Amino acid sequence: MRIKCPYCGERALEEFTYRGDATVKRPQSLEPEAREAWVDYVYFRDNPAGLHKEHWHHSAGCHAWLVVTRNITTHEIVAVEFASGAIAP
Ligand SMILES: [Zn+2]
Repeated sequence: MRIKCPYCGERALEEFTYRGDATVKRPQSLEPEAREAWVDYVYFRDNPAGLHKEHWHHSAGCHAWLVVTRNITTHEIVAVEFASGAIAP
């Protein structure tokens, strides 16, 4: 698998570090009522077939954090964008 970094171009997978699901949002509240949301955030992930958004770090390259939209059944990458939402140069 190869990932096309918006800064560096297409690079080998070995240059990147997988961080996890890019759709998971950290709960805002620290109140006891938010306990279930925190347990879900820390311990549970969906395992869908098909398209999935993932965080990847270009750790052996430009150190950009990326959101990669990948079909986890075929490994086809359909989109790569900066995690910050910045526009590629
Ligand atoms: Zn890069």
